[in-house]
Amino acid sequence: MPVYRSALLRFADDGCALYDEDGLLAIGPDAQGRQRVLAAGAWQALSPQYAHEPVTHLPGRILAPGFVDMHIHFPQTDVIGSPADGLLPWLENYTFPHESRFVESEYSGQVAQFFIEELLRNGVTTALAFSTSHPASVDALFTEAQRQQMRLITGKVLQDRHSPDGVRDDTEQSLIDTDALIQRWHGVDRLGYAITPRFAPTSTHEQLRGAGELAARYPDVWIQSHVAENRDEIRWARELFPAARSYLGVYDDFGLMRERAVYAHCIHFDDDDRALMRDTGAVAAVSPTSNLFLGSGFFDYAGADRVGFGYGLASDVGGGTSFSPFHTMLAAYYVGREGQTKQGLSLSPQRLWWQHTAGAAKALGLAGVVGNLQPGCEADFVVLNPEATPLLARKTRQARNLDELLFALIVLGDDRVVQETVISQAKYGSSA
Ligand SMILES: [Zn+2]
Repeated sequence: MPVYRSALLRFADDGCALYDEDGLLAIGPDAQGRQRVLAAGAWQALSPQYAHEPVTHLPGRILAPGFVDMHIHFPQTDVIGSPADGLLPWLENYTFPHESRFVESEYSGQVAQFFIEELLRNGVTTALAFSTSHPASVDALFTEAQRQQMRLITGKVLQDRHSPDGVRDDTEQSLIDTDALIQRWHGVDRLGYAITPRFAPTSTHEQLRGAGELAARYPDVWIQSHVAENRDEIRWARELFPAARSYLGVYDDFGLMRERAVYAHCIHFDDDDRALMRDTGAVAAVSPTSNLFLGSGFFDYAGADRVGFGYGLASDVGGGTSFSPFHTMLAAYYVGREGQTKQGLSLSPQRLWWQHTAGAAKALGLAGVVGNLQPGCEADFVVLNPEATPLLARKTRQARNLDELLFALIVLGDDRVVQETVISQAKYGSSA
């Protein structure tokens, strides 16, 4: 049974960080052979129980939960950093031409391998990802995630209109393919399926209706899409669905708002939209590097908290500019400062970290499963080196409390901080 001795970061149920400077993390298999946290806490209190176990001692390192990325596009790995004049030109000139290549299994497999390795290298151990409209892209990503024993959720993109040849799908076939992919992959090992309309403007009423029917038939399958990212996109959605109360209301009209429904961006909302999110249990994937890069706007943290809907952090690569959770947390801090409230918010370092770990897991309906290192959680974690660069070493040595330590890592950290990413290596049973 692996026992680690190191500094240890985890989260209480209320989102507050728990930190042991000299901590113990014990891991072992459950009845199904899945690796879980058996004990986590202060070394002094827990070590007598593990006196006969070999200990991996990691002085100067921090064990922390693996990060959870709530929204990322695996086929946009090579679209990252493409210059474009806002969302719609960026889709037309870079994203759609690139995604058309994923009709080929071999190409999809090559990119999937790089993508998963890049997530793990950056400390991301759970992701909700878009594939493309081609079933081959979904098979490729699930196959690679399964090989790495990673907890990953993805789905075939639905887009049967306003999309060029090569990515546009056929309405009836797209729903048949989605059903078949759910049956093939959902709940296999650590994999989950997400019904994935790209966004309302690229689906016909018929396709959205079919997606909603599948969402009702498979209530533990996820739903993912985009909403209220950019003003031109909102105008377009309102023209195409004039009967809907709002852009978000389109998804509600087609039965696509419920628990496990994750909407990226959620920037330009009114309080009725926020209440609809809260009342249906749908959640937001806040994507700050993407929103800053494409000039889309700022997620309104104060509005979300005032009305009370769930959210967590996401990279949104390739609209987003980095796979690194540290870059995403820092961008979220900027968004809080510059956002829609008059004085600006200072999101606390603990709160930012929670949004990308336990908070994101909670939003996905995976609280107590991933994103934390409390007893019973699946044992996905990162080994962080707070002295990874000369400036980080200098700065973190001067930290007087946990907030100062975490904020130094958020502001100055990147993939160099992630010394190791550990995901459960056991063979799993069949439940997700
Ligand atoms: Zn996106």
